[in-house]
Amino acid sequence: MADRDNSLAPSGSATRTVPTTIDVVVIGAGFAGLYAHHKFREIGLSAFGFEAAPEVGGTWFWNRYPGARCDVESLDYSYSFSQELLDEWRWSERFATQPEILSYANHVADRFDLRREIAFDTRVIAATFDEAANRWVVRTDRGDEIRSRYLVTAVGSLSLPKAPEIAGLEDFQGRWVQTGAWPREPVDVAGKRVAVIGTGSSGIQSIPILAEQAAHLTVFQRTPNYSVPAHNGPVDPDYEAEVRADYAEHHRQNRRSKGGVPSRIATGLSAMAVSEEERRAGFEKAWQFGTFSLQGVFNDTTTNLESNAAAAAFVHDKIRAVVKDPAIAEKLIPRSYPFGTKRLCLDTNFYATFNRDDVELVDIRQTPIERITKGGIKTSEREYPFDLIVFATGFDAVTGPLLALNLKGVGGRTLRDVWKDGPQSYLGLLISGFPNLFTVNGPSSPSVLTNMLQSIEHHIDWIVECIGHMEKDGLARVEADEAAQVAWAYEVAKIADSTLFTKADSWYMGANVPGKPRVFMAYIGGFDRYVDRCEAIVQDGYTGLRFTPSGGTTSRQDRAVPAGAR
Ligand code: FAD
Ligand code: NAP
Repeated sequence: MADRDNSLAPSGSATRTVPTTIDVVVIGAGFAGLYAHHKFREIGLSAFGFEAAPEVGGTWFWNRYPGARCDVESLDYSYSFSQELLDEWRWSERFATQPEILSYANHVADRFDLRREIAFDTRVIAATFDEAANRWVVRTDRGDEIRSRYLVTAVGSLSLPKAPEIAGLEDFQGRWVQTGAWPREPVDVAGKRVAVIGTGSSGIQSIPILAEQAAHLTVFQRTPNYSVPAHNGPVDPDYEAEVRADYAEHHRQNRRSKGGVPSRIATGLSAMAVSEEERRAGFEKAWQFGTFSLQGVFNDTTTNLESNAAAAAFVHDKIRAVVKDPAIAEKLIPRSYPFGTKRLCLDTNFYATFNRDDVELVDIRQTPIERITKGGIKTSEREYPFDLIVFATGFDAVTGPLLALNLKGVGGRTLRDVWKDGPQSYLGLLISGFPNLFTVNGPSSPSVLTNMLQSIEHHIDWIVECIGHMEKDGLARVEADEAAQVAWAYEVAKIADSTLFTKADSWYMGANVPGKPRVFMAYIGGFDRYVDRCEAIVQDGYTGLRFTPSGGTTSRQDRAVPAGAR
């Protein structure tokens, strides 16, 4: 396969002094890693970080494709931990662009002086737990070895782009790029014949803009997606004033919501409890409002097939109304899974783009891609010539970046082995057999189903509190109890099975990566409920965790089963 064409190769030029021992190693310098450094400094622990990219920002460093922006409103997609930060930062758009979010991450790093403890251009390639010493031994691709008492993975849930899976790429004589690792230098699109493979959020955001720039754009679609208009624009001054008037309350409400940001137009009713006319009016209001409100305007869209079908039919009609060619509209209509069970997309002019003469849609379920050739892409029907191929084919989500760390826990067992049938984790925070390891937004936490700045802050606050507790009580080692972990996994799976989400071949289910175990990888019981649960566990004396005192033998705590499961 050809090398990935991007300019993000390690520069190797950063000045860096990596200590040999430290209290905490933090892997990743996206929003999670940055906040972790700030918090560890606050409680007086020394922390050192590694980041594969040459700068901070994580997602917002790597995903520079045209049109990249958040789809949670900027005012909510912000840290809440510092009133000063909230007061001084102004977002210009309802859904901020990637460059603006990256500036925000850099501003946070500057303001809280977070870069000095991070080695950039450095990838962690292995970490092994030294059982005798209760230390993690972390190794990097630049030959560093560092021993730490705690290891915090802030590696992101959507940070490992899937490698292109299509045969023949090494023959292609044009250029190819991935949305999830977009080059830092501008990619020349003007006048080019461009292919986009993939119609998830990244494809849907970039396609309208690429279409404007390219001479001709061909979109290769495997599964149609549901997308709603973002209605982006300047931040609404009235809403901003309302939020700024009482941030504390605003963020409290975010934490009390199901997804880390409350719906502003939810009816609280079943879609089936209202008349046909009211149902349509509700969906229409949500469509006009934007955000994910089409999923939440009625309370049973993702659990009740009938309500779901009504929402799906509503979107199908919208697609037919926008797309002029009925045959293209039918290709764009999702039918093979319930509405909202693959991540809903927010777009600006996505469906309308298919009305352009210079845009073509290829349904690769009907005419599969056979291979990439010297000059383009060959399907079962014909060969298409291209200058540029854009892979918007997504990520090895949630577990991928964790498995890539080559973690070895107790008894030398690898995480890859432990998770061979799917991930198991206690609360998405700790993994049995991997002591003193904390995973931010790990599998079986609400993570990717939330406004992730909320779930990041919550996880790091919890981790820092737990480590603070260990420091105070002279505890050297913490580990998830296996029975508690199994009970949690059971609960997570049971809730997922009570929804329609498990019916889709989504990346939530691992279905986008060939050979990946089919497991719903997030807790879907609601962020509010999850936060309560995590608090109850602390109140109960860390139910489900086992602590070992310094110099002592492991004392199994009696409460091995999570509070709410008893
Ligand atoms: P990341 O931002 O992914 O950062 C992880 C960092 O860890 C990366 O910089 C990576 O290089 C580094 N890393 C990983 N492995 C290693 C290693 N082995 N060694 C060294 N460094 C390593 N969420 C929302 O809530 N709202 C949105 O609107 C939204 N939009 C998104 C748009 C896109 C295009 C994508 C891809 C995701 C979006 N997300 C959104 C999810 C987004 O990932 C999170 O909101 C958030 O940015 C995650 O922050 P993080 O610090 O946890 O992870
Ligand atoms: P994605 O949702 O996984 O979409 C990938 C697309 O590529 C899908 O259409 C998929 O088809 C297709 N695909 C994958 N492998 C393929 C192959 N081998 N051949 C042909 N087609 C293939 O990935 P994404 O668009 O990068 O988004 C991932 C997540 O990141 C989102 O769900 C969201 O959470 C986040 N994100 C958010 C935003 C935002 O708006 N703020 C923007 C981008 C990303 P199938 O559906 O058939 O698998």
